[in-house]
Amino acid sequence: MEVSATPPWRAGSSGADLSARDAHGALDRATRWIESYLGDPSRYPVLAQVAPGDIARQLPASPPELGEAMDDILDDFEKIVLPGITHWQHPGFMGYFAITGSVPGVVAEMLAAALNVNGMLWRTSPSVTELEERALDWLRQMLGLAPGWFGVINDTASISTMLALAAAREAMPGLDIRMRGMAGRFDLPVLRVYASEQCHSSVDKGAITLGFGHDNVVHIPVDADFRMRPEELADRVARDRALGMLPLAVVATVGTTSSASVDPVPDIADVCERERLWLHVDASYAGVAAIVPEWRHVLAGVDRADSLVVNPHKWLFTPVDLSAMYTRRPDVLRRAFSLVPEYLTTTEHADVVNLMDYGVQLGRRFRALKLWFVIRAFGVSGIVERLRDHIASAQFIAERIRSTEGWTLAAPVRFSLVCFRYRPRGATDAEGDRLTAAILERVNSRGRFLMSHTRLNDRFAIRLAIGNMRTRRHHVEAAWDELQLAAAELT
Ligand SMILES: *Cc1c(COP(=O)(O)O)cnc(C)c1O
Repeated sequence: MEVSATPPWRAGSSGADLSARDAHGALDRATRWIESYLGDPSRYPVLAQVAPGDIARQLPASPPELGEAMDDILDDFEKIVLPGITHWQHPGFMGYFAITGSVPGVVAEMLAAALNVNGMLWRTSPSVTELEERALDWLRQMLGLAPGWFGVINDTASISTMLALAAAREAMPGLDIRMRGMAGRFDLPVLRVYASEQCHSSVDKGAITLGFGHDNVVHIPVDADFRMRPEELADRVARDRALGMLPLAVVATVGTTSSASVDPVPDIADVCERERLWLHVDASYAGVAAIVPEWRHVLAGVDRADSLVVNPHKWLFTPVDLSAMYTRRPDVLRRAFSLVPEYLTTTEHADVVNLMDYGVQLGRRFRALKLWFVIRAFGVSGIVERLRDHIASAQFIAERIRSTEGWTLAAPVRFSLVCFRYRPRGATDAEGDRLTAAILERVNSRGRFLMSHTRLNDRFAIRLAIGNMRTRRHHVEAAWDELQLAAAELT
């Protein structure tokens, strides 16, 4: 193939970005595609209908030597990439925790990508820092939390929780782990972290990452409704102290991943205050329910915690990724992570917040913009209305399950999550498990709905989560019909 002069769709001039004409063409096509996609994502099957390797096989093994036309790249996005997409924006997406990348959030993401700023220091884009502080303070007020919480945005709840555990370690007097580390020290007791049996795996991963050791995450038994039993917590802390171990932190969960159960935070806070333990609250999914006045109570006691994580990218219509971490002790978080090399020191504005001081990462993208757009575009009342609608949809499914022979709820229905199973009269528990799993597989394979599963009390359960703004009541009714149809076909 002959290598010709720079074709018109290549860089406008050597070393430059796309020419104005090509930029216009690509941006215009992309925004038109986005508009049409968000208008109706349900034209695609919700679950990607591909086998492992199907996508990779279509991708050249080595990179192109010459630049390619944006039109060709966008063609391949549609032809190769889209078939391998599981459509989280699809109204039939009811698996895991359903989410929404709302239009205001998507627009903000486009603008943030265009600005391409890095908010590591206040001066590297004052708006990044100041909008982050303001948007997180708006969210704090919406959640009904007291003033005095300091917020910082991370990519995920997993990172937020890990940082909280690092702060808990820094807060404990006498350990001096920041300077001296943990290895080879005979003066260091075993450090213990407590969370319920139903806690998210990110608690365990955080403890593993920080070098506490997985064995030192103590999983506290739960009650019949999957909530941590505070008396068991107190008991384990006392036993560990008697063994010479050092209890450090407790992670309480508001909205567990399996069944959305809510740990009794006020009782856990009592234990933490008495025992001087750092209390971190993982409200990644369900915390935003507190924006709804009649659900405000789910964050009762949280104002007594040391740190909190809530994920706007889960149930607050904000595109992935945006996890809001709050702490009432920002000085401790900063002490754990601030480390300023000479080339990042600034003499001016000594009193500003530099967000790089509150975590591991230096670089910080402009995530606050999308949260600010989302809150402004829907308003608090619009957000409340949408959350209420999702909770009502979950109640609708729960009602059908309660009143239909063979179907049972596997956990109390909380927020917008319903866990259930199918066991017709006369079937054993094991047969019920097999049947419930087969129903789930059949529904998912049809492409209109995606649900996920869990195990509760060691029995298989389908998890149906409502959290997508595009999911209307008729979708929820159709999902119930499809579940019943699958059950009828399989029995
Ligand atoms: C989803 C979830 C997490 C993990 O969230 P990431 O942002 O994906 O790390 C942690 N805890 C709970 C309770 C969750 O529901």
